[in-house]
Amino acid sequence: MADRQLVVFDFDWSMADQDTDRWVFEVNAPEVRRWIEDNEGKIQFTDLIAQALRDAHARGVTREQLEHALRIMPFHPAMVRAITNLKAASKTTFFCLSNANSVYISTILKEKGLDALFTEVVTNPAEWDPSGLLVLRRRVDPSGPQHTCTVGCSANMCKGAELEAFYARHSPAFDRVVYVGDGSNDFCPALRLRSQDLLLCRTFGGLHKRIARDGGLKCEVKYWTGSWEVEEVFNSLQ
Ligand SMILES: [Mg+2]
Ligand SMILES: [Zn+2]
Repeated sequence: MADRQLVVFDFDWSMADQDTDRWVFEVNAPEVRRWIEDNEGKIQFTDLIAQALRDAHARGVTREQLEHALRIMPFHPAMVRAITNLKAASKTTFFCLSNANSVYISTILKEKGLDALFTEVVTNPAEWDPSGLLVLRRRVDPSGPQHTCTVGCSANMCKGAELEAFYARHSPAFDRVVYVGDGSNDFCPALRLRSQDLLLCRTFGGLHKRIARDGGLKCEVKYWTGSWEVEEVFNSLQ
């Protein structure tokens, strides 16, 4: 067992078995879900979701309805066990690094009893306004200096840079880093993992495709599909 072990989690389709940004509209406002589908790629994604939240609010979707959708979102019991048991059995730090938002993630982590196990959650900031609108902003403010990532991270955040910043806040270096991800925006941080680190790559997302196309990873890679497989790996890390 590594003395100082870090587990980094992407959230949508990695820790959770769904995508928060799309799910809340699938539950509450299918016509807004359709609008997201038709406009993805034309507008920066965080800005697109911020607009979708304003549209849903204008159509009468309430804070309570959005929170309910988050609480019932698919989240595998094996993933809850995997995190809870590894935290109890080892000196492992948990870090959530996500392109979703602070309200979605904190609502679900609280619902699953996992919120106190995470040292940090780095994501896009969001807050409820008094009218029940969820106001969402990019992690990297569009009016300030922008990140300089050339790997392909979206303008709202470079996950590789955020991972390095987390390392700097929590020195000395971790003996081992385990990164759980699925999306193409997890490729940039994956490139920064070392030979002693482990990438747990879900098989059906953009990360798998980026690795197959571009390669260049120094770390060990294990592919998984169901959360029960992550639980098996985590049990072996204790
Ligand atoms: Mg994801
Ligand atoms: Zn990047």
